[in-house]
Amino acid sequence: MEERLSTLYELQVIDNQLDELEELRGDLPLAVNDLTGQINTFKNQIESKNTEKKKSLDKRSSNEDEIERLKENLKKFKAQLYQVRNNKEYDALTKEIDHSEETVTKLESENKAIEELVEKLKIEVKDIEPQLDVLNEELKEKENELKQIIKGNEREEAKLKTKRDQIVAKIKKPDYNTYMRIRKALDGKAIVTISRAACTGCHNVVPPQRQLEVKQSKRLYSCESCGRILISPDIASSIDSK
Ligand SMILES: [Zn+2]
Repeated sequence: MEERLSTLYELQVIDNQLDELEELRGDLPLAVNDLTGQINTFKNQIESKNTEKKKSLDKRSSNEDEIERLKENLKKFKAQLYQVRNNKEYDALTKEIDHSEETVTKLESENKAIEELVEKLKIEVKDIEPQLDVLNEELKEKENELKQIIKGNEREEAKLKTKRDQIVAKIKKPDYNTYMRIRKALDGKAIVTISRAACTGCHNVVPPQRQLEVKQSKRLYSCESCGRILISPDIASSIDSK
């Protein structure tokens, strides 16, 4: 049992050291994440505006083809007007001419609107681009800073992780799961000891009877106030001095 408890405490000590290394990174990982998110948003905006621009320009070009075709037709119709033989033919022809002219007008005004839209989209993209540049620059800086910190601790972190793996291999799965669950819920600290009659996790007093039980290390005891696992100060100090 004592072995079981001391192994759990050993794991806690390693994790404390790993947490300290993680803390050195400060809010850099968060900042990098945040900047990446903002950059993606801007990139998506630019992309969707460019897509809309291309679609609009394609539409304008197909409108232009249609206008040209209609104007060719109009020329033909107008020439035919001189050759009509009766009113019925004349009416049919003028109807065609009116319809074509209306369509040309409609397409021309559509194209004008498209040109305005394209201009607007161009300005919007131009507005976003410098903001994107600033964010990219900022991201590069933060990433470099983070890389430096990570690189500075690389060896220590690798050493700690190897040691952690060795310790975890000695711990039974249910104990490890309990450890991780408490660690996650209580600020990284799952295994604590007693110092001056108080839990070192929450600093609440541990009743004398419980202190005695913990000292005997017969089973896993939890702090009644915070729920962390308490281990005997003797075990803690023997691990700490290692
Ligand atoms: Zn406690």
